[in-house]
Amino acid sequence: MRRLEGKRALVTGGSRGIGAAIARRLAAEGADVAITYHRAADAANKVIEEIRSTGGRALAFASDNADDQAIDRVVSSVVNEFGGVDILVNNAGIFEVGALEKTNVEDIERNLNINVRAVVLASRAVIPHLRSGGRIINIGSCLATRVPAPGIALYALTKSALIGFTKGLARDLGNNGTTVNIVHPGPTDTDMNPAAGDSAEGQRQRIALGHFGSPEDIAASVAFLASEDGRHITGAELAVDGGINI
Ligand code: NDP
Repeated sequence: MRRLEGKRALVTGGSRGIGAAIARRLAAEGADVAITYHRAADAANKVIEEIRSTGGRALAFASDNADDQAIDRVVSSVVNEFGGVDILVNNAGIFEVGALEKTNVEDIERNLNINVRAVVLASRAVIPHLRSGGRIINIGSCLATRVPAPGIALYALTKSALIGFTKGLARDLGNNGTTVNIVHPGPTDTDMNPAAGDSAEGQRQRIALGHFGSPEDIAASVAFLASEDGRHITGAELAVDGGINI
């Protein structure tokens, strides 16, 4: 299916894991795709080379999401190169576990900056360019509202903050024909949470379907929301988690 012909997408954290799968899927559906990455230049280049090899347009930008000016520069470059932007996927994130009393202020700021502030700033930068049919899709987490293990308070805070932001922005941008939604992945096999990792078995036991999701599972839901098929869905939370929070 090529539901995104003529659309221009920006996916943050598109070098690896879920973001890379989203970039590939949006491109396979016909969109021009720009990705950001932090350090993994080789991986980011591989993603855009793959997309280009299938005839798609793709760009990669090194950009620390904690740097507000960097986000503005990326959005300007995407608009210059593609002629606009229709879809923003706020995917980049970090997952740091630990007792709050053992974190320092830098740890707290890093988590808030990358998982929350960057989402707000990227959205702010993209909104003036969105036309009717625009899309903002945030990547939350099954841990946003249910926290089944210790040490996750800060991460849960960052992901639950995105729920309120998604709903508020959906209200703000509705008149413009732009939808804003949040996808909550469950355990998904990536570098962040490998299906063969130490904590994997405990997670698997709580998943109704009995196995981790793949990055492609998340990408499929993002492509649906980005497409015309998702036009009447806004302010919604979509769990793509194998039923872990039932
Ligand atoms: P990965 O760690 O596999 O990939 C993270 C991506 O984010 C990479 O592309 C990385 O870039 C980028 N990134 C990290 N820090 C920054 C930064 N400071 N600036 C710019 N980019 C940055 O994570 P996943 O693919 O697993 O996760 C993607 C999203 O899904 C996250 O928001 C995460 O919280 C969420 N999620 C994941 C789950 C899972 O089980 N995997 C479950 C629930 C939610 P680089 O490659 O350069 O480091």
